[in-house]
This record gives sequence, C-alpha cells and structure tokens, in this order.
Amino acid sequence: MNNEQPKIPQATAKRLPLYYRFLKNLHASGKQRVSSAELSEAVKVDSATIRRDFSYFGALGKKGYGYNVNYLLSFFRKTLDQDETTEVALFGVGNLGTAFLNYNFSKNNNTKIVMAFDVDPDKVGTEVGGVPVYHLNELEEKLGGITVAILTVPAQVAQPITDRLVQKGIKGILNFTPARLHVPEHIRVHHIDLAVELQSLVYFLKHYGNE
Ligand code: ATP
Repeated sequence: MNNEQPKIPQATAKRLPLYYRFLKNLHASGKQRVSSAELSEAVKVDSATIRRDFSYFGALGKKGYGYNVNYLLSFFRKTLDQDETTEVALFGVGNLGTAFLNYNFSKNNNTKIVMAFDVDPDKVGTEVGGVPVYHLNELEEKLGGITVAILTVPAQVAQPITDRLVQKGIKGILNFTPARLHVPEHIRVHHIDLAVELQSLVYFLKHYGNE
C-alpha cells in the first residue's frame, strides 16, 4: 500500500472494489464523468455515503458535473495496488476450491491463486486451472512469502491449517468453511459462509420482501 495515501476508514475501504469495478465499466464505455446519484443507483450505496467516501479520495464532485472518471480510476488503481499482483494460496481442492482455481479472478487481475494444497492422492501432483496442487505436508516448504490464503477445506481441519499459516506469517485468510477461526489480532480473517448467506437472503425475502 502506498503510504502517501490518506488513511481511509475501513467501511469506505471495503466499498472501494465495488466502486472500482463500476468505474472501470464506465470508463470502458467511454464515459468521462459520473454523478453520485448514478453511482448510487449502480452500486446500491446511498449518495451521501458515496460523497463522504469520495471526499477521502480527494475527489470533490462538482455540482452539475459529477466526478471525473479518470481521476477516480487512477486513484483506485494506486490505492488498490492494481499494478502489483497479490499471490494467494488455496487449501482444499474440492468442489468450491476447484471452482476458484478455474475462475482464478482473471477478470480482476490484482490477485492470483498461484498454488493449492490438498491431501487427496488423486489431486496432489496435478494441476487444476493451471495451478499446481501440493500435499498439505509441503505447506511450510512451498508457501514462501505468500500472505493471503483461501480455505475451502472441511471445517474440522480449518483451524490446524490456520495455525500453520499463522506460523508461516500469513496476513489474511478468506475462510469459506463454517469454522470460526482463532487467530492473533494482527491477522485478518474474512468469513464467507455461503450456506448462511443464502439462508439469510431467503429469510429476508420471506420476512421483508425487498423493501
Ligand atoms: P467443497 O466443500 O469444496 O464442495 P467437497 O464436498 O468436494 O468440497 P470436502 O470434503 O469439503 O469436499 O473437502 C474439500 C477438499 O479439501 C477436498 O478436496 C479434500 O480432499 C480436501 N481436504 C480434506 N482434508 C484436508 C486437509 N487436511 N488439508 C487440505 N485439504 C484437505
């Protein structure tokens, strides 16, 4: 991350990729400027929040003009380190893991899964989506300086793998297992439980419609 950038609140930082993707599309379609109302409609964030977020980026919208798309894009590129690829390791080449390896975030090219780990002898030693699959025993040897991991293993093995990753200096974990992971404070875990997300969506639709 560029240290010259002002410190952005975490809630704002989380919305950056959303803004970035939309602005890239706008840029590709030849648009030079965008209003906060248009952005709000597209990314489903209220326009007051967008204006506040953008003021952190030094982007002040002009009344009747909106925001300069090029300015915002160059800011996002710098802030999100789009020029630098972050290498990622994936654990568990099951259904979900295989889907990620095949997808490999290729349209979003600042992150790339460069290696995967599994314990199944049928998978170890193969390549999936062009990514080599190593045995979990090789974690310490192969991981190198990789700082981000995706977990798509069965829940019961998520914590022991996490402990080994912590020992190796991992900084962030995207946890797709239902396990609640215990990590030291300086390590960031984002937990995505697809089953819970889906259930919660269905619950909201049932009880609140789409108000
Ligand atoms: P998914 O949950 O992704 O749909 P699945 O149902 O195909 O996967 P799971 O039993 O959830 O299979 O296992 C996911 C993957 O994790 C499998 O490929 C399995 O071999 C692998 N796996 C199991 N234990 C470990 C472990 N200790 N370390 C790494 N990988 C493991």
